[in-house]
Amino acid sequence: MPPDWDVEADVVVVGFGAAGACAALEAAAAGGTVLVLDRFGGGGATALSGGVVYAGGGTPQQRAAGVTDTPEAMFGYLRTEVGDAVPAATLREFCDGSVAMLAWLEGHGVPFEGSLCPDKTSYPTNRHYLYYSGSELSAVGAAPPAPRGHRTRGRGTSGGLLYARLAAAVRGTGARVLTQTAARQLVAEPGGRVTGVECRSLRDAPGWVRLTHRILHQWSVKPYLYVPKAGRVLHRPAGWLERRYARPLRVGAARGVVLAAGGFAANRPMMRSHAPTARGGLPLATPGDDGSGIRLGTEAGGATACLDRVSVWRFLSPPPALLGGVLTDRAGRRICDESRYGAALGDAIIARGGQAWLLVDHATRAGARHQVRGSTLWFQRLQAWYLLSLGAVRAPTVAGVAARAGVDPDSLAATLAAYNSAARDPAVPDPAGKPAAARRPQDQPPYYLIDCSVRPRLFYPAPVLTLGGLVVAPESGQVLWPDGSPVGGLYAAGRTAAGLCSRSYVSGLSLADCVFSGRRAGRHAAENTQQGPSATLLTT
Ligand SMILES: Cc1cc2nc3c(=O)[nH]c(=O)nc-3n(C[C@H](O)[C@H](O)[C@H](O)COP(=O)(O)OP(=O)(O)OC[C@H]3O[C@@H](n4cnc5c(N)ncnc54)[C@H](O)[C@@H]3O)c2cc1C
Repeated sequence: MPPDWDVEADVVVVGFGAAGACAALEAAAAGGTVLVLDRFGGGGATALSGGVVYAGGGTPQQRAAGVTDTPEAMFGYLRTEVGDAVPAATLREFCDGSVAMLAWLEGHGVPFEGSLCPDKTSYPTNRHYLYYSGSELSAVGAAPPAPRGHRTRGRGTSGGLLYARLAAAVRGTGARVLTQTAARQLVAEPGGRVTGVECRSLRDAPGWVRLTHRILHQWSVKPYLYVPKAGRVLHRPAGWLERRYARPLRVGAARGVVLAAGGFAANRPMMRSHAPTARGGLPLATPGDDGSGIRLGTEAGGATACLDRVSVWRFLSPPPALLGGVLTDRAGRRICDESRYGAALGDAIIARGGQAWLLVDHATRAGARHQVRGSTLWFQRLQAWYLLSLGAVRAPTVAGVAARAGVDPDSLAATLAAYNSAARDPAVPDPAGKPAAARRPQDQPPYYLIDCSVRPRLFYPAPVLTLGGLVVAPESGQVLWPDGSPVGGLYAAGRTAAGLCSRSYVSGLSLADCVFSGRRAGRHAAENTQQGPSATLLTT
């Protein structure tokens, strides 16, 4: 190690969200000294999240709910979602180790509960903590379905609790956490092996600067999530404080650097270049999701994958009755099985140009209105209100409602007739493959067409999550060059890396991947005992 490091550790983790925390925990458990850096106070998107972790194969919570599940069934279903995003052996390892992974989280203080939600929903209320968080019920041909969305037990969106427990566990290991410190460049030897990180830190800034920076960030993350323009304005002074008061800090990493700095949904040029079709969506991100983790990796030679894969969420439930409706495009053609997971609906809508309408009849709408109170949390109430009022047009006939929404009436009538005949007779296959239990004839006037198109809207936004990142070795999480060889001393995890959810997201799979990939990277980095000669600064 060159003598001019300001601070050093065996393993340096960049980013203190779920992936970074899990990497730090494993690195510490493997006996390494650990330093965690975060540009803000830590937490990232993890602390804002729903805290849903995708797990199965017979977890204690599933058993408590009377659910039968096996690693094979979990693997069978996830193969349909994960595809080739990771090798089959990695997915198998994830499924086989899922029960142990949840127990590991519980061992670090993250609580779960086997209270099964009776409805298909985007997020269960505070009465339920286990639910069908993907499209398992629509994929019964692939595998026996089971609810695998394990929501951290805590009121409201419980990602804050999940993060708080992991962060406390990290601090309990003796790992050092350096907040308000942004990684700007990796330091590497001439051969490419990464030995440290060049940072800009506010650690020696006046107290009022640190306090103001912390408050500005904390106050702007929620507005950033719901009204990004307002969030950006509120956050701007935090960036100014960093530019004005942050000082260079050289951090040495004897065994490895783990990049766990989140995704790039807050980086508008990157979004425009990799995911132009998601333009109408709402970035599901914090200002920290600026793609800097991915940039650090690519500057060190790392390859990327799936950057064009973004998850666009279009939930119809709650209220669950709406899942009985018929989703069509402007041409009146059916889009997909409406009972699938919201990200699958979003994908299908984007593939049809981003415009979609849900046709429901009087009975379905009345049933949905009845369900709103018991099936929603506050943020879902706004959406349900939109779907049942502002977002809908109404007419006594199918032709009339089609004319009001600007949907092709003849095609819509034909689509509805085909759907209704399958809904009335379970022996008739649904044209979009919707399971019999989710079909409801839509034949009682008046009719409603609800605008479900992907475009900016306050009450019915389409959240967007980036899924791709740095390519990593499946056995170690080490960042790979484009030729497949590893970048020495460099690892990536969570949304900075391509992983289990990089092809297709279902609720819980991102956090589960953060735990899986974070632990893997932390463990392997701590076990990497190569030592290197003096360091040279990488140029950008
Ligand atoms: C509202 C919402 C709900 C969600 N619900 C769920 C859910 O229930 N289940 C699920 O699986 N997924 C959910 N997601 C997605 C999931 O939360 C994220 O994909 C996941 O938390 C990403 O974790 P991470 O560790 O990769 O990054 P993050 O948790 O974002 O952490 C990255 C950290 O890196 C820091 N950082 C960034 N750049 C730098 C830098 N250059 N130097 C130092 N530090 C840096 C950031 O400040 C941040 O603290 C949700 C997301 C949101 C926003």
